[in-house]
Amino acid sequence: MKRTLLAAAIAATAVTVSLAQPPAATVFEGARVIVGDGRVIDNATIVMQGDRITQVGAAAAIKAPAGATRVSLAGKTVMPAIVDAHVHTSTTPPDLTNDLRQRAQFGVGAALSMGLDGTDVPFTQRAQTTPGLARLYLAGRGITAPEKGRTEVPHWITTEAEARKAVQDEAAKKVDLVKIWVDDRDGKFPKLTRALYGPVIDEAHAHQLRVAAHIFSLEDAKGLLSVGIDAFAHGIRDRDVDDEVVAMFKARPNVVLIPNMPDRGVAADYSWLRGRIPDGELQKIQAAATDRPAVAATWGIQARNLKTLAAAGVTVAIGTDGNTPWAPHVEMADMVAAGMTPAQVIIAATRNAAAFVRVPNTGTIDTGKTADFIVLDANPLDDITNTRKIASVYLRGALVQR
Ligand SMILES: [Zn+2]
Repeated sequence: MKRTLLAAAIAATAVTVSLAQPPAATVFEGARVIVGDGRVIDNATIVMQGDRITQVGAAAAIKAPAGATRVSLAGKTVMPAIVDAHVHTSTTPPDLTNDLRQRAQFGVGAALSMGLDGTDVPFTQRAQTTPGLARLYLAGRGITAPEKGRTEVPHWITTEAEARKAVQDEAAKKVDLVKIWVDDRDGKFPKLTRALYGPVIDEAHAHQLRVAAHIFSLEDAKGLLSVGIDAFAHGIRDRDVDDEVVAMFKARPNVVLIPNMPDRGVAADYSWLRGRIPDGELQKIQAAATDRPAVAATWGIQARNLKTLAAAGVTVAIGTDGNTPWAPHVEMADMVAAGMTPAQVIIAATRNAAAFVRVPNTGTIDTGKTADFIVLDANPLDDITNTRKIASVYLRGALVQR
């Protein structure tokens, strides 16, 4: 902790301080602050000391400490760092470090890897807090029915005893969450039945662990809700939601929905990634971003379902699946296209995702919170794609090198 504070202070001010003194303050002045809980503060002042936000409010209400370093953010907008609640990061050290560095550069302060981590490497990384890297959270090895030909990292279970043993193994590794897959993959595999996912959820709860489910169908969503699932790692994808499932969500206000929107199937401009990813990769992405009506129709089901469930008051958090560090910026635009407001989507990407992943003391820009925030050149409440116009990123009080 002391080392982190010292490193943060050095990075923020380029001045070495003794651990006996309070950390030097940096005062950010003149920005619009999107707090992350729905509030917006115009012409705000943020005081940062060490890795903490020690004051935030309207400029007139803040008394900056004497000798503080002043940074003008006039014309800028500040929002909390993003938390991506559904990723699959690399499992070898240099690649994993690179994944987390790139996420930090795109304003992602933490990410939860959802169940394909079968080695010690991610757990070693999780135990560290490295300047300039997003923090990592883990579901270890997830749990599914045998899916021959697919990844063999998850536990493949066929009995209740195996279900409980798999949870016990993951609990022993102190995973942050248990992940299950309930999906027959277009009829190719038998999927986890209630007789198996019920005991998984029961055993996880006995270990004070929550369970997040990959789902496809409305019927499986209902089955999982009826036995106490804590979160969905995808939206309902096979059909439009009905009144019954909406009522089931409303009766379970702690359940979190991570919609993980699919490809929208419409032409899109990816020029904002120029210089941030290799040119060849960008060309491929841009070439694929054409109008595809069949893909757009599939997207439409999930878009309507997200709009309905968000309007019903379901807690929504952001998650992107896969290993694309910049994906949250596309996901946020997709969620707005589905019918959520930019303000709601930013809450989903910051406060709600941080609370779901249980990243301590983060998710909003508030007094006493960890200084994890993004400085933007334009206001994402006007246009959600303005989250892509990143001027700088601070994590744990330190400027992220970009
Ligand atoms: Zn996934």
